[in-house]
Amino acid sequence: MKAAANKPLVIQDLPIPKPQGRQVLVRVQAASLCHSDLATITGALGPLPVIIGHEAVSVIQELGPDAGKYDLHVGDTIGSGLWQDSCLECVDCKTAGPQFCKKMNLLGITTAGYFAEYALVDAATAVVVKRAGEDGPRSLPALAPVFCAGITVWDALERSELLGAKVIALDVRNEQLIAAQNDGSADEIINTRSLSPEGLARKVQEINGGLLVDKAIVTSGAPQAYQTAIGIVKPIGSIVAVGLPAAPVPLPVGAFAIGCLKLIGAKVPGQVGAKRCLDFTVRKDIRPRINSRKFVLEDINEMIDLMKAGKVDEGRMMIEFF
Ligand SMILES: [Zn+2]
Ligand SMILES: [Zn+2]
Repeated sequence: MKAAANKPLVIQDLPIPKPQGRQVLVRVQAASLCHSDLATITGALGPLPVIIGHEAVSVIQELGPDAGKYDLHVGDTIGSGLWQDSCLECVDCKTAGPQFCKKMNLLGITTAGYFAEYALVDAATAVVVKRAGEDGPRSLPALAPVFCAGITVWDALERSELLGAKVIALDVRNEQLIAAQNDGSADEIINTRSLSPEGLARKVQEINGGLLVDKAIVTSGAPQAYQTAIGIVKPIGSIVAVGLPAAPVPLPVGAFAIGCLKLIGAKVPGQVGAKRCLDFTVRKDIRPRINSRKFVLEDINEMIDLMKAGKVDEGRMMIEFF
């Protein structure tokens, strides 16, 4: 099979792997590039080489010996969160969820991922997008980005009980803001680039009936984004941490104490949360914004360069394999 591995990524011909235990062998239909992939290829998240890629839709080719009990069948189209090989037995697996297991691997980070024609996926994390022989969602295979970007924001919405809220999008780039407004994901937009903290708070109040916001989800890893969020939240409001800063961010504890604020963490959910996100996405016919350019596996290094340069305003870059 063709696979992109090593640094820089080189297209190689590798043997198709054999599913073990509860793994399933999948043929990758579409895989999209996530910002975390950039950190993976520098070796910052684990030893190289690894086949990167952790958001995809793919079709099951073969079940491992213990995968049969997961109601998966050859020909089913699936997606998955990146958590793999959780023990399902420890106290964290049983109480918080398998996405907190200390024994787990990360697909496309510590084990081979989706930028290859075939991949191995843990049946316990698989979410069925379309059953073999049945009609699936209209937007297949463009649902690939749901399985990292989508489900992560979903986890933030669920943990902060924010479904159905009015959305104000904040960013420092107009292209991103206008895209969010045009596709209906933001009710209001604010470019924070030239605003002082006081100016931003006033602007939020102007467009929000005189009020600051109840909850602020920070999806950027920029430390400044966390400072910005704290400045626009009402007393007894919440900051939801999703974006992962490279270094620790100073926490203004006084603002949390005085405002009785809450800090809520959110991340890629386990199978149960991912399934709820997919169901919602399909029911509402939500379609991730996909770059109009059709990428192939040989474009992977160019895709990485484009993402590094911030030139992906047109939507998620995705490779379609078939
Ligand atoms: Zn990701
Ligand atoms: Zn465990």
